[in-house]
Amino acid sequence: MTDTTITPSRPVTRVFTAPRASDGDGVELRRAFPGNALMDLDPFLLLDQMGPMQVAPGEARGFPPHPHRGFETVTYLLSGEMQHRDSWGNHGLLGPGDVQWMTAGSGLVHSELPGDGLVRDGGKLLGFQLWINLPRKDKMIAPRYQDTAAARIPVARNAEGTVSAKVIAGSAMGVQGVIETRIPILYLHLTLQPGAEFDQPIPATHNAFAYVVEGEASFSGRTAGASQVVLFGRGGESVSIRNAGAAPLSVLLIAGEPLGEPVARYGPFVMNTRTELMQAVEDFQAGKMGVLE
Ligand code: MN
Repeated sequence: MTDTTITPSRPVTRVFTAPRASDGDGVELRRAFPGNALMDLDPFLLLDQMGPMQVAPGEARGFPPHPHRGFETVTYLLSGEMQHRDSWGNHGLLGPGDVQWMTAGSGLVHSELPGDGLVRDGGKLLGFQLWINLPRKDKMIAPRYQDTAAARIPVARNAEGTVSAKVIAGSAMGVQGVIETRIPILYLHLTLQPGAEFDQPIPATHNAFAYVVEGEASFSGRTAGASQVVLFGRGGESVSIRNAGAAPLSVLLIAGEPLGEPVARYGPFVMNTRTELMQAVEDFQAGKMGVLE
């Protein structure tokens, strides 16, 4: 038997279904973490799938004003519209395929609400929000937005055309993403045709997981279906994915370099110490993160 693999692919340590949840103004979610199955995966603090939710005209729900400090939120929409507005005067409209990479840094108050079009006409909301922790030295940097339209997200494809990767961060198949990250992060939205296989190099020291959006996947021989989270262990420098179903497979593959720093977390604030956390609450209440009407 010949093996052309240079290093073994990383083993799967756990597969679990992201539980249903609700947040904001009644947005139906699947919260991959934090939860009973997984609290966090350094440097990742949270992954929500928003929807899929069919919203009737005039009924769209979202996230009314709330603060953030100490980390980044990455919003990636697949369907629907989301309107963003913050206490420093920034605003933007996200549509299908668009990404908003928001570095909350020292703090802001923002709202994430359905776009006017979705409210007026109704429609389907489906998207993801990932929270990435900031290293201690970056927690109090000025807030920054990288609003990246779908057309600017590079797409990598294999030679056969059976695998495509939207490169939100990091690189795949030689294609580099355009969004700047504070620490090394890989964020791919992969589509595999039935039977297609794909190997993604990931440094052995990085934490890595996958989230199956649609279809049936096999990761190093372990199967996972829609709404399932797949955790990868150490012991290899790549992750191996195969479409084990009869329909296209849609999966998010996310990895990052762990910070290895203490995490003090309270709702929308994520700092290193309890004192910093109390300061964050105080600063928010004193209006130091701005005010959003
Ligand atoms: Mn938010």
